[in-house]
Amino acid sequence: MATDRVYLSPPHMSGHEQAYIQEAFATNWVAPLGPNVDAFEQEFCEVVGARYAVALSSGTAALHLALRHLGIGPGDEVLVSTLTFSASVNPILYQGGYPTFIDSETDSWNMNPALLAETLHQRAQQGKLPKAVILVHLYGQSADIDPILAVCQQYGVPLIEDAAEALGATYKGKTPGTSGIAGIFSFNGNKIITTSGGGMLVSDDEALISHARKLATQARDPAPHYQHSEIGYNYRLSNILAGIGRGQLQVLEDYILARRANFAYYREELSDLPGIAFMPEAPWGRHSRWLTVITIDPAQFGADRETVRLALEAENIEARPVWKPMHLQPIFAGYEAVGGDVAETLFANGLCLPSGSNLHPKDRERVVKIVRCCNTI
Ligand SMILES: *Cc1c(COP(=O)(O)O)cnc(C)c1O
Repeated sequence: MATDRVYLSPPHMSGHEQAYIQEAFATNWVAPLGPNVDAFEQEFCEVVGARYAVALSSGTAALHLALRHLGIGPGDEVLVSTLTFSASVNPILYQGGYPTFIDSETDSWNMNPALLAETLHQRAQQGKLPKAVILVHLYGQSADIDPILAVCQQYGVPLIEDAAEALGATYKGKTPGTSGIAGIFSFNGNKIITTSGGGMLVSDDEALISHARKLATQARDPAPHYQHSEIGYNYRLSNILAGIGRGQLQVLEDYILARRANFAYYREELSDLPGIAFMPEAPWGRHSRWLTVITIDPAQFGADRETVRLALEAENIEARPVWKPMHLQPIFAGYEAVGGDVAETLFANGLCLPSGSNLHPKDRERVVKIVRCCNTI
């Protein structure tokens, strides 16, 4: 990656990764299985507090396997947060199902539990419940899991947690991603820890994980010859990349502190500006501040978020608007949205600032200076 550009959330190698990679080469475990894969799964379980895990080629693959295991199929409805990345939704369509989008609440920017409860209640009255709920934990902050889990249990609808952005966050002492039937994590290059690309599916349900493991390796039946009685995928993580993950996992806590320090700096330096606000830290846990996200009220600030983004871009600094809600995406036009105003306002005004755990203090200062320059009121 070009070194002069300031990225939103670039990879940050710790120095611990090489030893695992070299060991894989020395022992010729250059394969989509091996000791690093097994150890990464085990170490990850300990970090997040899950019983079982399967390491996969991406977070999207993890979500797909969770839906597949739960039997989501053609014509099935799945409720999902509207404020998210499309990867939270695409696997529903891979399975032939369809999404219904639920708006955010303002405490955490994540799924509004009251809207979810209303929707489930209404579906129950109509006599057709959704097949699953996908709850997204955005930007390093947990959603309000308890009321969401309670209403899902009330109606017997399985809860899948998309914790791709939330490794290192907490919810009442637990890790988001470990309360539902299954949780997914991502190790894409821009996440809090990375394997260049990769993901993890976790669950306390042993049958779910062993089925996912089978599906991820072309669904081979236990037989000496190649035999298949269901459709599988090639979704396993390589032993080399799992080695990177093991090295990254060792420094997770340091990286969270570094990202939270970025946030603290930005807040210190920018919160006096009119019209600038920060993504709140909900009272139920720790926000990892995977990304620092601000909102800009153009009427008070004198410039909108796009003006600020372009001012940063002109200095070769990457900033990004908040996720464009799924119910506004051309590809998902025609699916129902329950509410949507909160997510739409966050998209209109929200801007993600450079937040890497390796962000240089000088670059952070440049960001602050440019944002302050845009303030014309
Ligand atoms: C990154 C991300 C994913 C997908 O993870 P990949 O490993 O890139 O497939 C899913 N959901 C959310 C919210 C994400 O940010």
